[in-house]
Amino acid sequence: MFIEVDMLCKRFDNQSVLEEISFSVNRGECLGIIGPNGSGKSTLLKLLSGVESATAGKIEVNGKQIEQYPRKDLAKWLAVLQQESLPPIGFTVREVIEMGRFPFQNWLGGEEEADIERLIDSILDKMGLNDLSDRHLENLSGGERQRVALGKTMAQQPKLLMLDEPTTYLDIGHQILLMDRIREWQLEDDLTVISVLHDLNIAALYCDSLLLLHNGRVVAAGSPEDIIRTDLIEEVYGTAPIVMNHPVYGLPQIILQGESIAQRTIPAQRKVEKMEIVQ
Ligand code: ADP
Ligand code: MG
Repeated sequence: MFIEVDMLCKRFDNQSVLEEISFSVNRGECLGIIGPNGSGKSTLLKLLSGVESATAGKIEVNGKQIEQYPRKDLAKWLAVLQQESLPPIGFTVREVIEMGRFPFQNWLGGEEEADIERLIDSILDKMGLNDLSDRHLENLSGGERQRVALGKTMAQQPKLLMLDEPTTYLDIGHQILLMDRIREWQLEDDLTVISVLHDLNIAALYCDSLLLLHNGRVVAAGSPEDIIRTDLIEEVYGTAPIVMNHPVYGLPQIILQGESIAQRTIPAQRKVEKMEIVQ
């Protein structure tokens, strides 16, 4: 799925939320959308997934405007992982993942049960949910629920996956687990991924390119190295982190700085030791 966005604008009442947004995403690429709270990230994702319509501008998917795809077709190749998109109570993990197949079924049935079984089994396996398959959703932890939600979108077998802050509320172990599964899926199936990400370090580690938004406008777009820079981050977030290369992967990572932290009295010797560890 190749996506081209051209001069996209969105207004709510008389307030402009997105202005002249243009960018493109190649097939099989992962684009990360970053920016401060209220910069328009979720709104942009809603326009891209067809949930909201744009005030002006256009979104093309494989050379055709998104509005021209019938809703039912859209659900066959586009999946959105939303926060709290799971049914509230009464369903097991396996049942919820099976729900991902709904867009493909019609009143005649349509799909072979054995094929669906096989697909669901492989997803349970991939997501490490085998032991939980008969457990009710309400008895799962936040990390487990998020894995079920991703499993449900996998069952849809989309070509384009959109995610809005998928790692929020997850501990670091579950963040890495979820992002690794998404990355593996992206590479195996040539999946195109567009994800809003809150955490700049996660964004730099997992995205091929980044789109930095501020006040509804694109401030910069490019590779993690182009975007995760002290000057750009300071301009947009109002705080200037130190940017260093990850010692193993070479990708940019931020280290936060703050006025009151600088005033803390840390023995000079400990400071030096710490620097040596980093290098
Ligand atoms: P982000 O996801 O970057 O935090 P959002 O896209 O949620 O930002 O919101 C961007 C701006 O648009 C905010 O000022 C928000 O209040 C406004 N906004 C979002 N949705 C609506 C809506 N349905 N009606 C009016 N204003 C909205
Ligand atoms: Mg948001």
